[in-house]
Formats: sequence, C-alpha cells, structure tokens
Amino acid sequence: MTHVSGRHFLQIPGPSPVPDRVLRAMSAQVIDHRSPEFADLGFKALSSIKSIFKTEHDVIIFPASGTGAWEAALSNVLSEGDHVLMYETGHFATLWKKMAEKLGIQAEFIVGDWRGGADADQIEQRLRADTEKKIKAVCVVHNETSTGSVSPIADVRRALDAVDHPALLMVDTISGLGSVDFRFDEWGVDVAVSGSQKGLMLPPGISFNAVSKRALDVSKTGGMRRSYWDWGDMVGINGKGYFPYTPATNMLYGMVEAIEMMHEEGLQTIFDRHQRHAAATRNAVRAWGLEVLCSRQGHESGVLTAVLMPEGHSADNFRAEALKHYNISLGSGLSKVADKVFRIGHLGDINDLTLIGALSGVEMALSKAGVPHEKGGVAVAMQYLQDTPAPGIDA
Ligand SMILES: *Cc1c(COP(=O)(O)O)cnc(C)c1O
Repeated sequence: MTHVSGRHFLQIPGPSPVPDRVLRAMSAQVIDHRSPEFADLGFKALSSIKSIFKTEHDVIIFPASGTGAWEAALSNVLSEGDHVLMYETGHFATLWKKMAEKLGIQAEFIVGDWRGGADADQIEQRLRADTEKKIKAVCVVHNETSTGSVSPIADVRRALDAVDHPALLMVDTISGLGSVDFRFDEWGVDVAVSGSQKGLMLPPGISFNAVSKRALDVSKTGGMRRSYWDWGDMVGINGKGYFPYTPATNMLYGMVEAIEMMHEEGLQTIFDRHQRHAAATRNAVRAWGLEVLCSRQGHESGVLTAVLMPEGHSADNFRAEALKHYNISLGSGLSKVADKVFRIGHLGDINDLTLIGALSGVEMALSKAGVPHEKGGVAVAMQYLQDTPAPGIDA
C-alpha cells in the first residue's frame, strides 16, 4: 500500500461524508440500553427524527440498511396477494417492486423512462380506473438515486384525493430526506422509508419508517407474517425511550448530533443549498457538452446529478480514471444505465469549494479518459456560485 495524500472526495450519492462533529459524538462509550441514561438518548433520538420527517406521528428506527426498512414498510400493512401500484422512476423503484413480488404482493408498474420523477396524472388515471378499489397502496420513490430525479409527492397525494381512493401512500425517501424538502404530515404520507447514510450525514446502519395513524391501525390487524420488522413491538416500548432489542446506540449518538447540526443550519437553508449546488453542477455538465439524465423540468434532484456518457464511451472506465488520478469516488450507472451514466453526489456535508473540487476532478478525468467534451464547465459553475446568493451566508 502506498500512502495517498490529501482527503478522498466521496462524491457518490450515499453514503455521504460524515461530519467530524458526528464522528466525535459517535466515539462516546456505549451504554447499557436498559439503563435510565439510555432513555434520555432514546427519547431525544425518537423525537428529533420526527422534526426531519416533519411529522407528529411515530418514527420507527431499525438497525438495518434502507432495504430492511423497505421490507418493514411493505410487511406491516400489506398481505400476500394484495395489489399495489408502483411507478418506475429507476433502479430503486425497480428493486422495491422486486421485493414486493418476492413477498407475494402483486405489484403493478407504471412504466417510466428513467428520465424524470413519477407523473401524478398517470397515477390519478390508473386509480380512477380502479373502481373496485383493489389497489391497497401507491408506492413512489421521492428522490430516485439512480437517475437524479425527484417525484412530486404532494401531487401524488392530490391524485389519490382527486379520485377519493383509499390506497395508502408509501414513499421511499431514503436519499431524499434531509436534502430535499419532505413533509410527511402535510402531504398525507402513510408510510415513509428512509436511511441514515444519505442526507442525514451518518454512516450506513440505521433506517426508518414514519407511520401515519391509519397505517399503524392497518398494521395492528393486517399486514403479513413478520417478526423482526413488526412495528407493534417497537411503538409500545419506544414510548418509554427504549427498544425491544439492542439498538445501534452509537448510531443514535451520531443521529442526535447530526439533527442538531441540521437545525443549526436550518432545514430550508439545507434544501436551498442542495438546489444551488445541483444547479451549478447542471450548468457545468451542459458546458462540457454532456447531457443530464433527468430531462423533466422541475424534477431535477438536489441530491445528485446523473450524467449521460457520449455514445461509445464507458462511464465505468471514466470513473476508474477519476479515482486513480484524483482520488474521487463518483456513482456508477445502475442496471439499465450501467456504464452509460455516472453520478455526481452533491448531498450532505458539502460547501461551494467541495463542489468545485469535485467538478474539477470530473473535468480533468474527462480529459484523462479521452471523453470528448468542451473545457470550462468548472468555470461556468464557479460563475454561477458567485452570482447566486448562498443560502444562510449571503441571505
Ligand atoms: C440507497 C437507497 C436505497 C437502498 O438503501 P440501502 O441502505 O442501500 O439498503 C433504496 N432506495 C433509494 C432511493 C436509495 O437511495
């Protein structure tokens, strides 16, 4: 092994870099999870995460990756044979559908082109045709991490209401939460799924289900066979600040610290910062003469930007060159767009110079990999950042 100087640029759309303050908070000694001292931590963790989901309802914390929380969401409110409507925004929507099918759920896709978020009008049309109300849930990915597009969840709620459809609204905001505005209560979401390692600036390891009163009621008498994922076992003892089994104590230390930092910066400031960095990135991409994968205006993600490679050039080869020469990790294209796109993560604990550093690595690596492009994308991004007030700093 040879030592590489300087810091690694972790510019994948999750895990995102963990702030030093959070790492330090996590380095505290582990404590007895049945002790009175733990209840303070438990209460703090369980109440503070609600402020990020913008909910007064229960948020359940699982020691699991986001995939576990997906399974928890499905298994608590749906039974084998139930019909659900899902929207093909990209790779993660496809994986969630495959999971539903493995669990015996009949999942129907509204087919998408991976270039935008969910289309609420199409969802409304499909629900209108479901006169027998067979569809038990509508499942949508908020921020599709494989493509860099955001689905308008408030519009999806309106689609359900417009046809007075009783289906539960279930949302994967694993990579959206904490980076893109999400309003569980206001948008009438029934179950939201999230994870620690994206907008929340934590390491991977814990994940969440926010649960509406209605979804919780459904789970009490319905859902499929489940044990580890059962919400019922959690909510009772969570009310006392504890968990039914050993929680990820040090992740909770980190989470409480990360949420404190988020409120110090201000949630709206964080969302605006992400939008501004995403806009600067898109300007750079277009100046390079490359194409942004998300082509639906207004759906562009603040979390990441997926970039289409010119025909005949390998995105994976380009990423390998970027890593080798500039010590930067960029996201790969997943499944349908494997080797065709690369993804620039601009989420979490970053600032203008982090972004410019990352974009500089991309621009130089395009040359190293022999990818045809125009020079000067970074200069265009710099100009945009100079000209656009930085939320929380200039305004
Ligand atoms: C990361 C991600 C997942 C998967 O989460 P894991 O923590 O890797 O299990 C699911 N959906 C979306 C939108 C994601 O970004």
